[in-house]
Amino acid sequence: MEIIRTIAEMQNISSELILQGKKIVCVPTMGYFHQGHISLMKKAREYGDIVITTLFVNPTQFAPNEDFNSYPRDYDGDSKMAQAAGVDYLFFPTVSEMYPTGYDCKIHIGGITSKFEGATRPTHFDGVATVVTKLFNITKPHFAIFGQKDYQQVLVIRKLVQDLNLDVKIIVAPILRENDGLAMSSRNTYLMADLRKKAGILFQALEDARMSIENGERKRKMINAILHKNLRSVPEIKIDYACSVDADTLEEPDEFRPGDRIVLLLAVFLGKTRLIDNATITIPSIFPSLGKDFKEGI
Ligand code: AMP
Repeated sequence: MEIIRTIAEMQNISSELILQGKKIVCVPTMGYFHQGHISLMKKAREYGDIVITTLFVNPTQFAPNEDFNSYPRDYDGDSKMAQAAGVDYLFFPTVSEMYPTGYDCKIHIGGITSKFEGATRPTHFDGVATVVTKLFNITKPHFAIFGQKDYQQVLVIRKLVQDLNLDVKIIVAPILRENDGLAMSSRNTYLMADLRKKAGILFQALEDARMSIENGERKRKMINAILHKNLRSVPEIKIDYACSVDADTLEEPDEFRPGDRIVLLLAVFLGKTRLIDNATITIPSIFPSLGKDFKEGI
């Protein structure tokens, strides 16, 4: 694995690889790797010949009151893990390489960015859209892999690619979880042992809501109430949002219909640590009690 520190060198390498007919797959990250990141790098290998992982803690997607300075970093550990995962190039620029003096540009996506993560973190998705566009222009990928863990981010990136006609295919990888169901995250290291023990409640809330849907619940407010009830059982949790929404538009109808694709979205503070999680569900048909063995016509 080669570690590349400058934009010019990365662009030259990618141009050369494309001339050789290679397919490039990019995995954008902010580092402090866990198995969730590694699963994206391994998935990348299925889509092309060359895997480029980018490692950049992007200051423009953090608000001034957020954790840019304290965000966990372990560049040596990360490069060893990326190498072991079979990554070909680790693009690891400095902040001044990405945003030199005089830099003055950003990409803003409307609509879906105003809700949920975007409501709590109003500048976040501008920062994400801008840095991802830059990373695509630098690594020139045919495919890019993103985790479902950051659900709304995936919708934003898809919209970015669609609206700006970016010539890259977006692949979404599933959420990797710890044994108690907590979604893996670099920020989990902020959790002290006592709070860490309670963090499994996020997954429990998603599973309880999923079960209620499988048992026939269709009313959005009832589904949301199940999420809230679970989360409120931990006194140290402050709910930012916990809701069921249309998986594509993030709209909130009163009632879901069979065949609707929905997503349960959670964001909470557990102590001072902000955690997000989600689960996608297709609303089952109106005969749940007939079960899996039901065959039409018999
Ligand atoms: P980050 O370094 O947190 O910006 O994450 C980089 C990429 O890894 C993003 O596409 C995330 O959605 C993805 N990711 C983060 N956590 C997980 C996880 N637990 N499982 C799978 N992918 C993840």
